[in-house]
Amino acid sequence: MRLVEIKEGKARIFIPDPKEYEKNGKFDPSWAPVFYNPRMMFNRDISVIAVSIISPKSIIDALAASGIRGIRYYLESNSPIEEIIFNDKSKVAVDLISKNVEANGVKVAKITNRDANSLLYEVITDYVDIDPFGSPSPFILSSVNAVKNGGYIAYTATDLAPLEGSAKKSCKRKYDVNNSKLSFSKEVGLRVLLSKIVREAAVLEKAVEPIFAFYNDYYYRVIIRVTRGAKRADESIEKLGYFYECEKCGFSGSSKDPIEKCPRCGNKVKISGPVWLGKINDDSFVHKMIDYLQNFSYIKNFEAVSILLHKILQENKYPSGYYNLEFIASKYKINVPAREKIIECLGDASQTHFSSKGIKTSKSFDEILECMKTL
Ligand code: SAM
Repeated sequence: MRLVEIKEGKARIFIPDPKEYEKNGKFDPSWAPVFYNPRMMFNRDISVIAVSIISPKSIIDALAASGIRGIRYYLESNSPIEEIIFNDKSKVAVDLISKNVEANGVKVAKITNRDANSLLYEVITDYVDIDPFGSPSPFILSSVNAVKNGGYIAYTATDLAPLEGSAKKSCKRKYDVNNSKLSFSKEVGLRVLLSKIVREAAVLEKAVEPIFAFYNDYYYRVIIRVTRGAKRADESIEKLGYFYECEKCGFSGSSKDPIEKCPRCGNKVKISGPVWLGKINDDSFVHKMIDYLQNFSYIKNFEAVSILLHKILQENKYPSGYYNLEFIASKYKINVPAREKIIECLGDASQTHFSSKGIKTSKSFDEILECMKTL
């Protein structure tokens, strides 16, 4: 395997030379013997900032591949890290991790060549990182098991088709959610993922509190805090419910139990659930992320991270679910006014990072419609 050296954040790591694995001039990171995807740099940048705030002493990078995440946590987070377990079931990956860990002077590394699930049932840690191919579902129970009371877990999910309701059977299998493709599917997907995490954690009598969660490019990333207690777990479950959207008038909302008829016009609704209806971001954590970001002026995505954090802070004030202006406009055969104009007209609304066509507001559907018609 020919290696090339790349730089990401403060890390310099070796990865398989992409040129060696090109097919017809194209390259997909999953074709290389060890996975490294530069498109995930944004995900890792955000994670490094989050880990700086969480400040864990022990970390498990359970699906480590090249080791880039754990290495960046060590080099950039300023956390008092005493141990990072870098794990991957692939022997080639583990050999490369050893090389990268040494090249970056990571003094606290323990490298294991295990199945992540069996490892996670044997260890206890402050922070687990689950960054799989596709769905994190196979690793939810074991990661919740591995984290200390008050500890944190970060999950990446790239299987957007089931999560957003395009692949319903797959969503039922992987997340045990009856999903539909709704006009605000980008947010539905993240809340389907959180619902699964909450229900899995409850099996172990643990409660989940989302700390930071977002959608970007082709993935979701969620960071949760886990605490022990059956009663607390019950309270997390209480925050699950259903999204509905009317096939006729476009009205949407959420309810504790599934409904069949639109509360606005009485026609049939599409349903997704159970989904997480609680907050997906903790305001004080997002404020800290914004403060801490100043220490990361060297990252390539500095501007983009700053934009995301500010958007999330704004939209976090509003209830779950966003309104897709294009969808509403198409139902009522009207033009889509500029998003900023609608926000101004409503007076109490914000844009959303989930979609450039979406707004969030506590105002009613009919008030949105009124603004859209008059503008
Ligand atoms: N975290 C890496 C990063 O930020 O670049 C990328 C991880 S890659 C998407 C997923 C990795 O998980 C692969 O290296 C694969 O070998 C490993 N993997 C898949 N299933 C596993 C399992 N059951 N146990 C341990 N490792 C596994």
